Amino acid sequence: MLSKKISLDKESEKQHHAPGFSARFLEEPVPKYEMPEGSVSGDVAYLLIHDELNLDGNPALNLASFVTTWMEPQAAALMAETLDKNYVDQDEYPQTTEIQNRCVNMIANLFHAPEAGVGTATVGSSEAIHLAGLALKWNWRKRRTDAGKPADKPNLVMGANVQVCWEKFARYFEVEPRYVPLTEERYVLGADEAVEMVDENTIAVVGILGSTYTGEYEPVERLNDALTQLNAKTGWEVPIHVDAASGGFVAPFTSPDLLWDFRLPLVRSINVSGHKYGLVYPGVGWVVWRDAAELPEDLIFHVNYLGGDQPTFNLNFSRNASQIIAQYYNLLRLGKEGYRKIMVALQDNARYLTEQLLSTGKFTMLSKLGDLPVVTFALKDDSRFSVFDISARLRERGWIVPAYTMAPNAQDIAVLRVVVREALSRDMADMLLEDINRAVAEFEKQAPEPKPKHAEKTRGVC
Ligand SMILES: *Cc1c(COP(=O)(O)O)cnc(C)c1O
Repeated sequence: MLSKKISLDKESEKQHHAPGFSARFLEEPVPKYEMPEGSVSGDVAYLLIHDELNLDGNPALNLASFVTTWMEPQAAALMAETLDKNYVDQDEYPQTTEIQNRCVNMIANLFHAPEAGVGTATVGSSEAIHLAGLALKWNWRKRRTDAGKPADKPNLVMGANVQVCWEKFARYFEVEPRYVPLTEERYVLGADEAVEMVDENTIAVVGILGSTYTGEYEPVERLNDALTQLNAKTGWEVPIHVDAASGGFVAPFTSPDLLWDFRLPLVRSINVSGHKYGLVYPGVGWVVWRDAAELPEDLIFHVNYLGGDQPTFNLNFSRNASQIIAQYYNLLRLGKEGYRKIMVALQDNARYLTEQLLSTGKFTMLSKLGDLPVVTFALKDDSRFSVFDISARLRERGWIVPAYTMAPNAQDIAVLRVVVREALSRDMADMLLEDINRAVAEFEKQAPEPKPKHAEKTRGVC
């Protein structure tokens, strides 16, 4: 296979001709701490790593994740063709930059930005949220210092159900996080409760579309109204950021009349994960601002070696271009019609799963039909076995369905969550339902003694 001989020692030369499974490392422990002295053939290294990875879960059965596990072969081909491109090399790969800019334009327009094109590709929503959070902090600080007021105690108001990246942002960039607690009846941010926590040092209030825990959309329009009133009364200018990591590619197609985006005046920035319902393999995300005025100049670094001026605003520098190119493939290939069809189909499958689970009489639903295609459900009676037991039993069949407790102050509720993605067909859904029902029937037979209430504390998986 190799036409040119690369420096192989005697031993590895021998292996070069050895059939795969008889080679070194396949009979010996694999190096884990020290780089091996000698080489092995590519075939052997491939076999070894390929086989080891079989111990991972099967991505198609991973119903824990919002992240894409299937793309069309044409998209995969484009990605393979562009693995060697560094997206940051704008002068070498101007067309890749152009494709990124087209994606930013299309996404900003999808979210009704008055001025399209202010935004950037990121590695995911986490990076996007760090960038958006920095812009909010900078804007708040400028308003404060321009008014001759202290600017050393910024805070950010959000639901206790935020994804962990918001906690990271608050800690890394020294912003006090103010969490609006949930209740046993409300699993997302309450608009009035949020506005009560706002003061002159609030850099923004976060609205999530939709919640990682239940898929429910937060009431962004009500938040906009309540905050508009508060701003008018106090003279503050507290804005809203919408974390549309999942919903940004769902709501525009399935709920076009829902007001959550730049149609609401206080919404200044929005993030979305391209690798969730944008339907691209990980990792790509996007952040867009309402207009250029929302993006402080001193956060932008200007690169001029492209000939023109190319502004950049990112936490990292080099990254692979292929996910950005794959995002453009999906936007172009599917169009609004394609995304609409897919998202409607996912909601249909979420509805089907919900109805089938409810018909067993064993479960209550915490997810809301019509929001994210996510099915979050709890056991009506968990005195004999818990959702954690069901999750473990499903795992024996290969299904990855996480069980977790809700955020404060609803953490006494433990749930299972199924994220309905493109690869979860009706047939797969039926097999999953069968396995859930079988597990429940077996536990009911085996566990006559009431169990103490679950004590496990885990976080939702994304
Ligand atoms: C997934 C998720 C994130 C983080 O997104 P990544 O793209 O994984 O970095 C942030 N917020 C919400 C609501 C999410 O669902």
